[in-house]
Amino acid sequence: MKRLLMHSPITVAALWILVYLLITLFPLMVLLLYPPPAQGFWIDFSVALGFIGLSMMVLQFVLTARVNRIESSYGIDILLQFHRYTSLVAFVMVLAHPIILFIGQPETLQLLNFPQAPWRARLAVLGTLAFLTMVMTTIWRKPLQIPYEPWRASHTILAVLAVGLGFGHAIGVGNYLGLFWKVVLWSGMILFALWLILYVRLIKPWLMMKKPYVVEEILPQRGDVWILALRPLGHEGFTFHPGQFAWLTLNITPFSMREHPFSMSSSGDHADRIEFGIKEIGDFTKRIKDYQPGTRAYLDGPYGVFTIDRYWDSAGFVLIAGGVGITPIYSILLTAAERQDDRPFLLIYAAPTWEEITYREAIEDLKKLLHLTVVYVLRQAQDDWQGDTGYVDRELLAKYIPLHRGSRHYFVCAAPVMMDAVEKALFELEVPVTNVHMEHFNLA
Ligand SMILES: Cc1cc2nc3c(=O)[nH]c(=O)nc-3n(C[C@H](O)[C@H](O)[C@H](O)COP(=O)(O)OP(=O)(O)OC[C@H]3O[C@@H](n4cnc5c(N)ncnc54)[C@H](O)[C@@H]3O)c2cc1C
Repeated sequence: MKRLLMHSPITVAALWILVYLLITLFPLMVLLLYPPPAQGFWIDFSVALGFIGLSMMVLQFVLTARVNRIESSYGIDILLQFHRYTSLVAFVMVLAHPIILFIGQPETLQLLNFPQAPWRARLAVLGTLAFLTMVMTTIWRKPLQIPYEPWRASHTILAVLAVGLGFGHAIGVGNYLGLFWKVVLWSGMILFALWLILYVRLIKPWLMMKKPYVVEEILPQRGDVWILALRPLGHEGFTFHPGQFAWLTLNITPFSMREHPFSMSSSGDHADRIEFGIKEIGDFTKRIKDYQPGTRAYLDGPYGVFTIDRYWDSAGFVLIAGGVGITPIYSILLTAAERQDDRPFLLIYAAPTWEEITYREAIEDLKKLLHLTVVYVLRQAQDDWQGDTGYVDRELLAKYIPLHRGSRHYFVCAAPVMMDAVEKALFELEVPVTNVHMEHFNLA
């Protein structure tokens, strides 16, 4: 069995945080140490905040560039959560920078008079506005009803604008970047961010173009789900850790950046046929059934840390799925069956009705190959239903999970409300938090 990491995941994750802090603070230390700042504490402090805010903004490009080594330490949802929070911190710093300046030197307020202000001040105003728009359209994307794809495109443009204008402002002011090597240092950081954009937008799609896939089959499944089976074309494809996901581009060029994340639902050990279980919910997913075999597809993956492969010494697993959240869990079970894994698996699977249990027949078949107990939890049960009904709550979990809570690892994938409720219930039932792993299908 392949191991994801050579070192302990916690050590690697801690190391990345250290690297993050060093990169955030390093340019600031260099800028402030030599020659020493001399404009008075508050002005220097405000400038320091501006520079930290700028380096944090540059680092956002790293967080979202899907660098596999970083992603495999945390998982994409934690990384994106971190991206969201650090963006807000950077925004507060960028805003605090002029506010402190205006309080300390009220005459600088006239820099806000846009038509008459010098270019360096105009760049700052425009950069801050770009940053503000980016933050607002992200926080209120859903209430503002901005569709995901235009939002994503505008997010990148606004980010580039905010960083570029911020850097232009810092060079224009010059006080702290007066020496040539300091300009070189900051230019290096900005070029690095630009290179990352180039990599994500051009190099990665180009690499994907060289490894295309074709649609082999599209089959209906229970619960408004379609199985999309892909075959690698002219290359070997990839194996993956069951539970991982990939970004799928279908019937368009990968340069269009209109890709969607889906968990693989097939066995992780078969590179020659990769399957996804896709539920109809929106524009893209409702069109899946209309594609024909032979359609071109591209995959960027595998990604993710939602896999039992990281816990090879666990005594067994508790898998908790809601609706289409079964896809990564089904892959985990299928792969385990093929690998003749003899550990106990408990699957707690919530679905609206008996008829809508995705992969129901296949799961029943897996019971013959695995030490697998399945608990279906139906929201609307038929009259003769003898099993559990309602929600996966603390009481239901207490009935089924082992008494030695820490002897198992728990994998949860469901709708956000169910994920929150299950996480809380597991916590109350004293399942160690380090043993609970969640896969969120809603990244943005
Ligand atoms: C790690 C992960 C694994 C997933 N695995 C599965 C799976 O196995 N099966 C399944 O049915 N669904 C899965 N999803 C959800 C799937 O990605 C969305 O349902 C799909 O992208 C919705 O697209 P749409 O255009 O049909 O719907 P829309 O109505 O346009 O979007 C619905 C919501 O999906 C999200 N979304 C839309 N487009 C994208 C995009 N390009 N990238 C990221 N998020 C987007 C947004 O939050 C959006 O508000 C997974 C999501 C993630 C993050």
